[in-house]
Amino acid sequence: MSIGCAIPVEKRAELAQNAAKIVASGRGILAADESTGTIGKRFQSINVENTEENRRAYRELLFTAGAELADSIGGVIMFEETLYQKAADGRSFVEILNEAGIIPGIKIDTGLVEIPGTNGETVTQGLDGLEARCAKYYQQGARFTKWRCALRIDPVTGVPSERSIRANAETLARMAIISQRNGLVPIVEPEILMDGSHDLAQAVIAAEHVLAMTYYYLHLHGVFLEGSLLKPSMVCAGADCPVSYTPEEVAAATVTVLQRTVPSSVVGITFLSGGQSEEDATLHLNAINRFDAESNRKPWKLTFSYGRALQATVLKTWKGQAENVPAAKAALLQRAKANSQASIGKYTGGAASAAASETLYVRNYVY
Ligand code: 13P
Repeated sequence: MSIGCAIPVEKRAELAQNAAKIVASGRGILAADESTGTIGKRFQSINVENTEENRRAYRELLFTAGAELADSIGGVIMFEETLYQKAADGRSFVEILNEAGIIPGIKIDTGLVEIPGTNGETVTQGLDGLEARCAKYYQQGARFTKWRCALRIDPVTGVPSERSIRANAETLARMAIISQRNGLVPIVEPEILMDGSHDLAQAVIAAEHVLAMTYYYLHLHGVFLEGSLLKPSMVCAGADCPVSYTPEEVAAATVTVLQRTVPSSVVGITFLSGGQSEEDATLHLNAINRFDAESNRKPWKLTFSYGRALQATVLKTWKGQAENVPAAKAALLQRAKANSQASIGKYTGGAASAAASETLYVRNYVY
């Protein structure tokens, strides 16, 4: 039986350096890796047709928002199509991001399938042929990967079940080791969905077990933790829970769970937004960074990897019209800056508009 890190010593430095660079102080991740189907849903809400050219134009808007983008964004996650696309001036998106000092990354999972014998729980697909795909993505300039698992909480029916927790944890570990063998920093994303009426204490129990098992499987497969990032949900009550909790209570629950489960060798924890409003996602991140600040028990960067909570206002401002591009770019810079401040516990408000406070939660949301 082989025990210990399965990544050769000579491959480790690049992974550790890139992981650290993505989450360098004040920086987080822009998740712009919506699949063609998912971006179609976003475009539909603003009456934009889901064509390759519109997807390209929209991503160009995001990646060229302005020089300040790199102050708050250390990495961008792209969908495969985007990794190969170019801006109107002929430069590839990879070149544009590299020039700005932003690390290009790619979503490598291929979606969810139901696990037989569970109450509708899922596991994530995409391991077949992943080795070859990762080699190709590295060649194209990607330096990190993202793989999302989705778990649900329903204490009444025993969800998440041990079966689904272990299946997902092992899948995350397998993709992480394959990514690292190919020079790519894996972002391990065991998302716990907001669906349900569970309270905060029930969310703590589920999150603690999911993360503990995730790191157990990462250990079993020899993942090089210093060259990996974790992308968890914040520990929140379910969307239908009758009790509402303050950002400080969410922060206390989230940090406590992370302290109990995530090794200090992991450089960064980059939260997903999961259907929170743009402003809530920022306020929660700020509270997380302020919580337990003096204790020296938060050894990782605690930052953002937001999709919806960075793009909702951008999309509504853009509406597919060329004349709205400057305003849409400004909206992205404003949200990115607010989250950058929150990632060091220094957000003092001011980025909240009525639109930014609107919930982005969708019941039974499929990414
Ligand atoms: P949200 O921030 O929209 O939840 O998504 C981030 C993401 O990349 C999910 O995989």
